[in-house]
Amino acid sequence: MAELRSPSRAISTAEAQASTAEARASTAEAGASAAEAGASAAEAGASAAEAGASAAEASTAEARASTAEAGASAAEAVDRARSGDPRALARLISLVENGSHQLRPVMKALARFTGQARVVGLTGAPGVGKSTVTSALVAAYRERGLRVGVLAIDPTSPFSGGALLGDRVRMQEHATDEGVFIRSMATRGHLGGLSWTTPQALRVLDAAGFDVILVETVGVGQAEVEIASLADSTLVVVAPGMGDAIQAAKAGILEIGDVFVVNKSDKPGAQEAVRDLRTMIAMAQRGEGEWKPPIVSTSATSGEGLADLVGRLDAHWSWLDSSGERDRRRQTRAREEISVIALTTLRQRMGGLPGDSSLDALAARVAAGEIDPYSAADELTAAIPAPD
Ligand code: GDP
Repeated sequence: MAELRSPSRAISTAEAQASTAEARASTAEAGASAAEAGASAAEAGASAAEAGASAAEASTAEARASTAEAGASAAEAVDRARSGDPRALARLISLVENGSHQLRPVMKALARFTGQARVVGLTGAPGVGKSTVTSALVAAYRERGLRVGVLAIDPTSPFSGGALLGDRVRMQEHATDEGVFIRSMATRGHLGGLSWTTPQALRVLDAAGFDVILVETVGVGQAEVEIASLADSTLVVVAPGMGDAIQAAKAGILEIGDVFVVNKSDKPGAQEAVRDLRTMIAMAQRGEGEWKPPIVSTSATSGEGLADLVGRLDAHWSWLDSSGERDRRRQTRAREEISVIALTTLRQRMGGLPGDSSLDALAARVAAGEIDPYSAADELTAAIPAPD
């Protein structure tokens, strides 16, 4: 490589080295005087620190007191929700939806009661009958005497949310049943989005003692795939004549289905839909001992096939237990929860939330060519206080 170097390049390299040496020397000088200045600053700082220490002690005590208060009221709210007070429960879910600061003590108080509920996710295109299937499942589990929670998650799309939510009125047949809690959650535009709110809401219902939690999502998209990954068992619902099986394959939800439901089997084309699904599911490679997703035909409006569906879900639940898959899934869920919360906290500390002034100011400077995006990102991350 050295022979290829042109003379002028060699000279400029030498020059560069010389000026680097100079720069180092002056940096050392600057460093020395900075150290001197630093020493006297440190002295001044020491007395300031003394004065500050007693103030800090006082405010720490205050902070502790208010944390204890928050903890006590959180524990009380959790107790009330566990005793079956639907208003207390609704309030806790609202804390989740609003990303409230009170959530921290609440989650602390909840933690030891979680891990009991069985979480079933339902996904599929709008109109296939998810709400109807959900409602029928609620009835089936209620017959067994189980307490059932339903979280109907609304998508981020502002175009479909409202109308579809209206359809969920059908679930109101369970509204007066004390063993059922139904909540629609709008997660649109929320800090951290779907992946942040849903697991926290699940925790609330789980700790409140619901035996089964049904999580229903609208539409078929990435968000639904994410939501489904939160569940112990995922139902993918399709209907005949909608090309749903193919759409489902395209959307990547065939991989996440533990049980497939061809709903509206009273309509023409149901058998074809089952056949299409079977062909596509058969293409997936499955090892020994792995779960083979069954296909269940239902007519949710008449209740046909519902007993079969509940049976398949029970079989999946047993398999989750015996294979160790339930613990694996739950750990994956917890890992995701922790990272989402940690990343959200980091973003908040950086002041990096969209619309925040420091990020905006940096963005303006980058856009104007004053600084490069790497330097801007460095500035942003430099603002994160190091952990103690
Ligand atoms: P979602 O958008 O997937 O939640 O679908 P819905 O549960 O709101 O159902 C959409 C429409 O399909 C409603 O009018 C239901 O009454 C109807 N529906 C649901 N299940 C069945 C079924 O098994 N057979 C028939 N024929 N209609 C059904």
